[in-house]
Amino acid sequence: MRHTILSDIHGNLQALEAVLADAPPDAPLWCLGDIVGYGPNPNECIERLRSLDVECIVGNHDWAVMNKVDVQDFNPDAQLSVRWTQDQLSPESTEYLESLPVRLENGPFTLVHGSPREPIWEYILYPPTARLNFAHFDTPYCFVGHTHVPVLFRLHHRSDKAVCEAEQLLEGDPRLLGDGRLIVNPGSVGQPRDGDARASYAILDAEEASIEYRRVAYDITQVQRLMEEADLPRRNIMRLSYGW
Ligand code: ZN
Repeated sequence: MRHTILSDIHGNLQALEAVLADAPPDAPLWCLGDIVGYGPNPNECIERLRSLDVECIVGNHDWAVMNKVDVQDFNPDAQLSVRWTQDQLSPESTEYLESLPVRLENGPFTLVHGSPREPIWEYILYPPTARLNFAHFDTPYCFVGHTHVPVLFRLHHRSDKAVCEAEQLLEGDPRLLGDGRLIVNPGSVGQPRDGDARASYAILDAEEASIEYRRVAYDITQVQRLMEEADLPRRNIMRLSYGW
């Protein structure tokens, strides 16, 4: 059975729709948090996920709009986006975000937003951080988001030593899960930060034991126009063009 793995949609409905159109129609969806924040369509993104019965966990931006974390911990542009999103959210959307768990386990897969050690806040950018995090989940595999960078960290046991390597996930190059334990980041749907402006997501094939990462072009200028109309921060509008 295949699963579609999404993360960090950030209120970008155009990117979300492009990914949903590209993804296998029969594959259940898992979402790794940060549905809202930055983008101009937080309610619409939540409604779309609800209509598809997505299994979803909560991210730091979702918590921020629910006042579960201090917004002062965000940079000024992100603070502005959080406040704007709070003003937009419908009671139904807020209720949905409130209902999301911090962590989920589905068979051999653990799902968290940041890291298994610090599910809301920690960024796993490099192998040393990933290596420490393997002690904080019991399943063979863990999916994370939060950095907006698609990557796979593999833990090998050679003799007594555990070695953690980062592998770049290349588009259209299915990677076998293999024997080692893995931490996998599918990248960001709504605000990629790896220099590629296209929406990023991953397809997990549990039977083939493989993961494939995909990129999808979408109408970035339309999102930017909506963000301008909403008076959202200039920097966050511009960065969508470059994927940084
Ligand atoms: Zn995010």
